Amino acid sequence: MPRRTSRNTPDRAAPIGAQTGSPGSPTPHEPPSDCPLCPRLHTFRHENRTRYPTYFNDPVPFFGRNDARLLIVGLAPGLHGANRTGRPFTGDHAGLLLYGTLKKLGLARGTYHERSDDGLELIGCAIANAVRCVPPGNKPLPSEVTTCRQFLTATIRAVPNLGAILALGKIAHDSICTALSVPKKDHVFGHGATHTFERIALLSSYHCSRLNTNTGVLTAPMFEAIVSKAKSAAGL
Ligand code: SF4
Repeated sequence: MPRRTSRNTPDRAAPIGAQTGSPGSPTPHEPPSDCPLCPRLHTFRHENRTRYPTYFNDPVPFFGRNDARLLIVGLAPGLHGANRTGRPFTGDHAGLLLYGTLKKLGLARGTYHERSDDGLELIGCAIANAVRCVPPGNKPLPSEVTTCRQFLTATIRAVPNLGAILALGKIAHDSICTALSVPKKDHVFGHGATHTFERIALLSSYHCSRLNTNTGVLTAPMFEAIVSKAKSAAGL
């Protein structure tokens, strides 16, 4: 299973246009390996290193190119998904719908094999999480969302050509609003909602989790429609 070979690799800038997100390619907008800022998540990460020694078990980095026009923001890595593989949405149910939809809409090419070294390439878009570390029960605390927002804000700044951001779920939506310094009460989350700011459109979708798709809260056509709308809003 792919993982970082060294946990102390110094941060280095990814060249503009480089496809990032593979273990071992940290960028300045990424937290340090073994980030200690959220004590509960730091402890959980170390427990997982013992339980699952072949897993990635570090903050999961942004995936995509710095010249992306569309940024897709999820909640946090899944324990046996991104926390295992080291790439957002890779290795669990949510990734099947997300990457399948991106490929269908021409926003990704290659074959998705549920591993970070499958060679899948994003086209014009990039993916990050509002919280970079796996939380127990898939539920980050509000304080952890707040603490990790510095990296979300830095990510948004590091992708200067953004035309649109697609938030997957309310927590990601609200964190993006704060990162963009816009009041949440005036920009309420809702599936299909679009808020347009000076140069960026913020669109929202229900998260493509197994829970939402199994219960019919989010269907594949609904998800494809909102990703397609985000693609257009980004000028892609
Ligand atoms: S969630 Fe973010 S801020 Fe918190 S420990 Fe992980 S990388 Fe650091």
